[in-house]
Amino acid sequence: MPRRKTVEEASEESELSPPPVDLLDGVQAVAGANGHAEDGDHRPKKKRRTKETISAVGAGTSLRHSEAVSSGPAKKLAIKRKVKAEVKEEVEIDAATEDRKVTPKKRRAPKRQTEEEVQVDDDGEVVEKKVKVKRKSKAEKEHELTEMPLATRTVGHKLLIGAHVSAAGGVHQSILNSVHIGANAFALFLKSQRKWDNPPLQDDHLTIFLSRCKTHTYDPNNHIVPHGSYLVNLAHTDKDRTKQAYDAFLDDLRRCEKLGIALYNFHPGTDQCGDRPKAIAHLASNINRAHAETSNVVTLLETMTAGGNTIGCSFEDLRDIIALVSRKDRVGVCLDTAHVFTAGYDLRSPAAFQQAMESLEDVVGFKYLRALHLNDSKAPIGSNKDLHANIGTGFLGLRAFHNVVNEPRFAGLPLVLETPIEVRDDNGVLVKDEKGKEKEDKGIWAREIKLLENLVGMDVQSKEFLDLERTLARKGEPERKRLEEQIERVREKAATKSKTVRKGKGKNDVKVQDRIASSGAESSLSELDE
Ligand SMILES: [Zn+2]
Ligand SMILES: [Zn+2]
Repeated sequence: MPRRKTVEEASEESELSPPPVDLLDGVQAVAGANGHAEDGDHRPKKKRRTKETISAVGAGTSLRHSEAVSSGPAKKLAIKRKVKAEVKEEVEIDAATEDRKVTPKKRRAPKRQTEEEVQVDDDGEVVEKKVKVKRKSKAEKEHELTEMPLATRTVGHKLLIGAHVSAAGGVHQSILNSVHIGANAFALFLKSQRKWDNPPLQDDHLTIFLSRCKTHTYDPNNHIVPHGSYLVNLAHTDKDRTKQAYDAFLDDLRRCEKLGIALYNFHPGTDQCGDRPKAIAHLASNINRAHAETSNVVTLLETMTAGGNTIGCSFEDLRDIIALVSRKDRVGVCLDTAHVFTAGYDLRSPAAFQQAMESLEDVVGFKYLRALHLNDSKAPIGSNKDLHANIGTGFLGLRAFHNVVNEPRFAGLPLVLETPIEVRDDNGVLVKDEKGKEKEDKGIWAREIKLLENLVGMDVQSKEFLDLERTLARKGEPERKRLEEQIERVREKAATKSKTVRKGKGKNDVKVQDRIASSGAESSLSELDE
């Protein structure tokens, strides 16, 4: 009888299988062999969970009556037992399929433990069978991230392309997350970006971070560009606000120095005093102070989307800040493609792109450009909206990114994606999982990195480019349409309440409109709602 056989098999297995601790050690050994010796200290500690498993399994192996006995006469007597089973999974790596340089490989995943819970009624019939996959150990996770990446890093590519990856669990985790997506550069938050109070950098995290940088050949001097907190506004002239922002900023720079990181990117902030030159001077003085209290980190001013009182939305703003910074060797610029585009700089045609680059050179100087954020934009040029889109799906389009990756002056700079990773189907509709939650896929970054790397030297008249351009543009169409409709609604509203709208406009909008007028694009839309 099949059910008898199952029971026998189960008890046999529980006697023959090594105890769970050995199983876990086996997993560690596998990961250790493929992993990295210097991370030895970081090997997973045996948690209490292991013990619990042993006792649970111990109890399960001897058949026992379940609570069903006492839960009421209506219920049939049920026998509950747990069976421990090992599951070997063959994982097929879904490496960027469009990628020509990377050959997807089949690799064997480390053994994963599952627990099978079988409920049998008094006739011995199986009434319920549940298979629970146990949470992966740290070593298993590390193995999966680095030994089974979504895409293999392109070694020796002249562009250093990566993404802003998660540092959940500690800064050292960012390196594994970066390897996982095949990135040659990356950004991270050094602490929670939405909290003022954060625990200090842990010594063990620092040690592992440094050893992983070596193992995975990331040069912290050039491949890693942390992103500052969104809360920090160094341009705020209020005394208390200044102290809070400055302390958080300085703390980040000190973390960079400990981690050996040379570049640090942050938002210049907003003018809260109604006096732009004063706010810029205040910002620059804070930068100078922070430079004096640290030794070598280069602080990068991010180019911002225009609108209201935001500082850094024009090259002129950046020039004015840099002019007031004493240590010119410790100030730079991080250009965000989506931000400059919605602030009015066109990057779409080769001619427009060159014009924008000339302007950057003339106003700021290319020598200050130290990093880029590569994002397409869901909002059109000059819209003053900060809405990142996946590469090729937004209003910038694939042609703009062809211009970007073929710009020789960007070679060797860290180029960081901040694109969304929600999964969309070919028609741009969000895909949801079984629970109705939006699906996320880090493979999107892995594929975008390869896409951008492959765009270098690609003929824009070729079928390959035109097909890619068309496919990606179609994917982004629903979102672009949605935003366009929103813009139209704002325009209509503005037409009826033009006086009120004019009042709400920032001082930057004059400059933005000048730029847009000269590029023949649409008018400023700073009042646009999210
Ligand atoms: Zn940013
Ligand atoms: Zn942005």
